[in-house]
Amino acid sequence: MNLHEYQGKEVLNSFGVTIQRGIVAQTPDEAVAAAKKLTEDTGTGWHVIKAQVHAGGRGKGGGVKLAKNLDEVRTIAGQIIGMNLITPQTSAEGKKVHQVLVAEDVYYPGDSEPEEYYISVLLNRTTGRNMIMYSTEGGMDIETVAEETPHLIFHEEIDPATGLLPFQARKVAFNLGLSGTAFKGMTKFVTALVKAYESSDSSMFEINPVLKTSDDKIIAVDAKVSIDDNALFRHKDYEAMRDLREENPVEVEARAVGLNYVDLEGNVGCMVNGAGLAMATMDLIKQAGGEPANFLDVGGTADAERVEAAFNLILKDPAVKAILVNIFGGIVRCDRVAQGIVDAYKNMGTINVPIIVRLQGTNADIAKELIDNSGLDVQSAIEFQEAADKVQAVLA
Ligand code: GDP
Ligand code: MN
Repeated sequence: MNLHEYQGKEVLNSFGVTIQRGIVAQTPDEAVAAAKKLTEDTGTGWHVIKAQVHAGGRGKGGGVKLAKNLDEVRTIAGQIIGMNLITPQTSAEGKKVHQVLVAEDVYYPGDSEPEEYYISVLLNRTTGRNMIMYSTEGGMDIETVAEETPHLIFHEEIDPATGLLPFQARKVAFNLGLSGTAFKGMTKFVTALVKAYESSDSSMFEINPVLKTSDDKIIAVDAKVSIDDNALFRHKDYEAMRDLREENPVEVEARAVGLNYVDLEGNVGCMVNGAGLAMATMDLIKQAGGEPANFLDVGGTADAERVEAAFNLILKDPAVKAILVNIFGGIVRCDRVAQGIVDAYKNMGTINVPIIVRLQGTNADIAKELIDNSGLDVQSAIEFQEAADKVQAVLA
């Protein structure tokens, strides 16, 4: 589950990570009130208005702007709230902005120039360890840095037996070229960041930029936080931060009925039991000349109700030209699934795309008979290849 910047910063701050302070606002009036409150609390005269959507690159798309007085706060908030923000990380249609973060300006002039760094904490899947990835090239697209100047990206692996050791935090600060107050600030920052990452059961933290202010404070200016969905059961407070407006509506609906669904670009809908078989089915569809329209694991109990819910989800996608149902009857009996398909189909009236059903395993033969005798426009198959050929035929 991804968090908005303002929510990510709240989580960071609760573990002692210093952040650029801000208040979220839904309207220009609220933005002005937020700016006044921030001036009282922090003494800042200038404010940055930041679009809150689940996508990076907001600055480039016009979603992050500096306001030098309350009139500008009102005008800019009015421009950003309700806009369709298009960034390198959104689709071509962009994302609708429902709220902004009004934040203190932290790039104020002073004894030294403000400096931007990149720091993320994430799992290194090769070593199975958490690691800190960091760079002096903050504020920029990290993918570009990785491509053009890979020697400017550093890694620090965390041994799970010891946790982050103090010398490692110092090494990060050293490699970023810091000294004095900023060096100390950075070691504290990194230590708190790793603690926050571990304690919140996150799967990724990306702070870009981490800022060294002109008076040598180290603060998180941006926060991209992803919490591991499988850990949300023990973080009800984070789960409450979920913003359904930011998520794919069909996937939201699927979760509500307990189906594991991922929307994809293709034209063949698939309904499968088991994630492994679902992956294999997607390969099969590609080999047959189609493209999967979705990943859908209906799980172990494919009864009429679940099958109907699954059909309904798949059919929400207008690109779907055929549906392939691929069920392995291990614990679940194929004839019960077949009955579920027939019942669901009858219940739904007409389905305007061809359906190919492959049932294999316990009572597969009875299941095939049930489908073939149902009088419905459903083709049955027992072998994987047979199913692929039938998909190919209906797409031709
Ligand atoms: P992103 O574009 O979605 O990654 O959003 P960020 O939160 O990283 O902000 C984008 C850019 O806005 C930063 O790299 C900064 O250059 C700029 N910015 C952010 N906060 C401030 C601020 O307080 N003052 C000024 N002047 N610029 C800021
Ligand atoms: Mn950023």
